[in-house]
Amino acid sequence: MAPLSRELSGVVLPHEHFGSHLDAHGRTIDEDLEIENFKFAGEVLAEIWSELTIDNYPVIAEYFGTGSEKSVEAPSLEWYASHVRESQYFLQIVKCNDVACCGLLRSDLKNILPDGFFPAPFPMRRTPTGLTIPEPEEVCDEDTFPPFLLRNAINMKPKAATYPDPPPYDLYCPSINDQLTGRLCAECGLYFASKSNAARHKKENHGVRLSEKTRPSKIL
Ligand SMILES: [Zn+2]
Ligand SMILES: [Zn+2]
Repeated sequence: MAPLSRELSGVVLPHEHFGSHLDAHGRTIDEDLEIENFKFAGEVLAEIWSELTIDNYPVIAEYFGTGSEKSVEAPSLEWYASHVRESQYFLQIVKCNDVACCGLLRSDLKNILPDGFFPAPFPMRRTPTGLTIPEPEEVCDEDTFPPFLLRNAINMKPKAATYPDPPPYDLYCPSINDQLTGRLCAECGLYFASKSNAARHKKENHGVRLSEKTRPSKIL
């Protein structure tokens, strides 16, 4: 997302190109006009992004309105479960080991990360009896999060008594600690960045029914 958001610094998207759809209190009074205005802003955004090149690939951005005839071919959730790992601030998309599916790896990533995905960061603490990994709720200011290669070299992992193995990537993200359980798939242990994504995965991959309150969220 970084190259995309960089392009937006200093950009003010027009919100009333075809006239204001809001009343004096900022409430929508003309929904059709609002959709038109939103579309215009979306097209401006698409135009800005379409001028970009990322990693030598041209960026093609298009505005898709509601009820648009066009559709994006989203990968199946089965594919998603084996190639994508979500977390609050980190999305990993990694080739699988099936050459027919993903082709050959061009990097040596899997020599370092056998399943291709970064494990959850965790802090370490030196105690009189040796190194320990404090529980998420016990982490204090003196604890440090060692760099990945050091964590990978040390034969220690966070104890994941209440979590699957490997534990959710956000295990040590304090602001969302109370949401972890709801974002996990109880069937296969996969962790998602939101409860609704976890629910969608459970329904599509394991045939678990969505509850009334949980609806699939958007596809980014
Ligand atoms: Zn694949
Ligand atoms: Zn699952």
